[in-house]
Amino acid sequence: DYKLSRRVNAIKPSPTLAVSQKAAELKAQGKDVIGLGVGEPDFDTPEFIRDAAKKAIDDGHTRYTAVDGISELKQAVCAKFKRDNQLEYSPDQVLISAGGKHSIFNLLTAWLNEGDEVIIPAPYWVSYPDMTLLVGAKPVVVQATIEQEYKITPEQLRAAITPKTRLLFLNSPSNPTGMAYSHDELAALAEVLREFPDILIATDDMYEHILWTDAPFANIVMAAPDLKNRSVILSGVSKAYAMTGWRIGYAAGPKQIIAAMKKVQSQSTSNPTAVSQYAALAALEGDQSCIQTMVTEFKRRHDYLVAALHAIPGIQCLPGQGTFYTFPNVTGLMRKAGCKTDVELCERLLEEANVALVPGSAFGTDGYFRLSFATSMEVLEQAVARIREFAEGL
Ligand code: PLP
Repeated sequence: DYKLSRRVNAIKPSPTLAVSQKAAELKAQGKDVIGLGVGEPDFDTPEFIRDAAKKAIDDGHTRYTAVDGISELKQAVCAKFKRDNQLEYSPDQVLISAGGKHSIFNLLTAWLNEGDEVIIPAPYWVSYPDMTLLVGAKPVVVQATIEQEYKITPEQLRAAITPKTRLLFLNSPSNPTGMAYSHDELAALAEVLREFPDILIATDDMYEHILWTDAPFANIVMAAPDLKNRSVILSGVSKAYAMTGWRIGYAAGPKQIIAAMKKVQSQSTSNPTAVSQYAALAALEGDQSCIQTMVTEFKRRHDYLVAALHAIPGIQCLPGQGTFYTFPNVTGLMRKAGCKTDVELCERLLEEANVALVPGSAFGTDGYFRLSFATSMEVLEQAVARIREFAEGL
């Protein structure tokens, strides 16, 4: 038995990746499993982006780059913030990293000390609490239920703040719920945050573009510009451009914080992959209509899936506003099936219905499961039929 570090013993492997892996294993054994656990677009990376990467290789962009990313890409990120968010950032306020996850990890490493508290609204993206633990800080989870459309209220935020609070995570549109905070809801959270000037806000905008609300996308910096000097925007090309495997994320925020994150990166991974940076550059600078094509398809699947799930007795499914996930309440189904937890329910669904789903408790909220609709309509229809059959057979 090896004595591993306290920090690594405090965390668990990503449950969403684990579900995908389990589904893949069962499939390899010849079982006809439908996996709805994955968190990546089923589309190929658009051709013009792939071409840019091929050209980058042929042009010899195969060496180390600047630790914080090539200057063209940092400038493209600044231009993106101006174009999409009407926000001004200079290249020294931007850091390019190896995926959105890496950007978050750099921020937590640069910002948090042992014992610091991090407020994480639940249902949360699975990695926030474990990444927080990994740097020795303490996750403080604030529950938002389906009744509040999975969004925390200003009162809940205030109640969670202590003298040790140093960071608040916001993720909108949200993985796993698909809900987005409105401009006004963010402004209301900002009012509370103004009273606590030491708290930094990490706004994870990874799904910014996968959104179908009438109102345009908003993050807290757009809703409360006076909080810009205490916010870090985290984003990347993974989801919007179907580029999960390329591993390019970026962060924008106060110069001093970005410089500290760059220092962390310089002593860990160094620059993100050179070829991928050129691909991301093409993505940000190229024709943005590729995003809309994918979003239209996600919305079509969403509309089908939400209605079909909601019609199954024991499932309550709210329409979402973006992403490619839905997060129905399944407490009714759990009762009927005699399952005490959603983990149990998901195990039963995997064994008896051959559908792989991620239990809500992986996202901090028991009584739910997350379905990813980053898969074809035919597969979704089959999955719904299997879940319906399971429910009706109880
Ligand atoms: N943030 C959220 C909310 C996500 O869902 C994901 C990916 O699942 C990420 C960040 C990380 O993205 P990347 O694959 O670029 O590391």
